[in-house]
Amino acid sequence: MPDYLFLMESRLPLAQWQVVSQVQKAAEALGMNLYLVGGAVRDLIGGFPIEDLDFVVEGKALKLVRELGRQQAPRTQGVGGEVRVAWRNEALQAAELEFPSGDVVSVAMVRAAGDSGPLRSQAIPATILDDLRRRDFSINAIGISLNPQSRGLLLDPTNGVADLEKKQIRTLHPYSFVNDPIRMFRAVRFRTRLTFTFEAKTAAQFQNARESKVQEKIPGEVLAQEFRQIARETGPAEILKALEKEKLLTVLSPRLQGPRVDWQGMARASKAGQGLAVAGLRVRSFPLFLYLLTSKLPPRDQSQVAERLRLKQADRQTLRRLAENARRLAKELGGKAAGTPTKLYQLLSAAPPELLLLVLAEYPQAIIQTRIRNYLRKYLPLRLKLPEKELHELGVAPESPRFRKILDLYFYALLEGKVRTKTEQAKFLKKLVQTGK
Ligand code: ATP
Ligand code: MG
Repeated sequence: MPDYLFLMESRLPLAQWQVVSQVQKAAEALGMNLYLVGGAVRDLIGGFPIEDLDFVVEGKALKLVRELGRQQAPRTQGVGGEVRVAWRNEALQAAELEFPSGDVVSVAMVRAAGDSGPLRSQAIPATILDDLRRRDFSINAIGISLNPQSRGLLLDPTNGVADLEKKQIRTLHPYSFVNDPIRMFRAVRFRTRLTFTFEAKTAAQFQNARESKVQEKIPGEVLAQEFRQIARETGPAEILKALEKEKLLTVLSPRLQGPRVDWQGMARASKAGQGLAVAGLRVRSFPLFLYLLTSKLPPRDQSQVAERLRLKQADRQTLRRLAENARRLAKELGGKAAGTPTKLYQLLSAAPPELLLLVLAEYPQAIIQTRIRNYLRKYLPLRLKLPEKELHELGVAPESPRFRKILDLYFYALLEGKVRTKTEQAKFLKKLVQTGK
């Protein structure tokens, strides 16, 4: 039998391993039984990259959350500090925490069967095995004990490890999809992401559920949460393609199929997104994702999609204005408004990153592409190397508005090529300080 404690210690990045140890210590202090569950265990055993950590406890999860909030996180590479509670739900006894390392962690009380979707249940006392059996697929229903007397013990009541080995998705009961149809989307998402297949009975259940059109009944908020998860995947287009093939995208709009989906636009956007990521700009805009998905639909159908997803007013407005705002930015980028490095920098640093991505993807004109590329590859890196230390040494307080202003002026001089050598730069900085800017 593999040693799961060893597996955790060797496979988890240091910061995550420290999070596990910290949660473990807090639970132990409170005498609570703690388990690592869900995606983290699946990815640990399956050899996939591990993202978020999900824990469950037998008992009041929020007591554990309070205990964690009281503790200081251990210092990793000079960063330490508070554990932040992103949200908590008293009735469900569940919360999401963010550790100083940036690790996102969910902590929940074990729940019994009959609780289906994560958004729609009330907590009923249960054991860890009940909790694992109520989950969507066997590969997501594995737990690792973190209790002192059984630390590292694998809890696999539905034989999920075997399915991980066979690389297949298997439901835990025949009505799984009918009872909670969002699982159809989750099944396709995991199948695509992990390059797994459906186990034979699961495939039949999936088809039956789809033919009964149970997917039409998924509440808007639940559907929206799933599409947000798809948007956060490394390859969202692959997952959307798989959903389209399964005729599931039509839950958003009956017209959302075949050539009505702009696959090429999505591919261009994905490439543009990589270009931005290299410069440290990560675009996580749900309106942009929806825009790309529905850009070939008539406006009325686009509104219908927003309606189906119960999209918030602010997001709807962003969505409606994206195309027009991109057009305006592209026009400015091609003209005098971006004619000098300083103007270009000011224009682009004021634009939301999703707009930058859209312009990069949809406006192939050389002048636009080159200017954005200059901004990303030259100006942004330059901005990170401003002489903050030197300015401080010249007696300007780092928190003062003057500090920012001088750095800005210095940065623009650099952009315009007015101060080239190190000596010129030092002289210029001194001059800015002396002239009382
Ligand atoms: P990811 O890598 O996308 O985060 P995950 O498996 O951790 O995958 P989450 O959406 O974070 O997925 O959910 C955590 C766990 O909660 C799942 O592993 C699964 O056990 C359970 N779960 C989530 N949604 C459902 C559902 N609709 N029905 C049953 N169990 C679910
Ligand atoms: Mg997860």
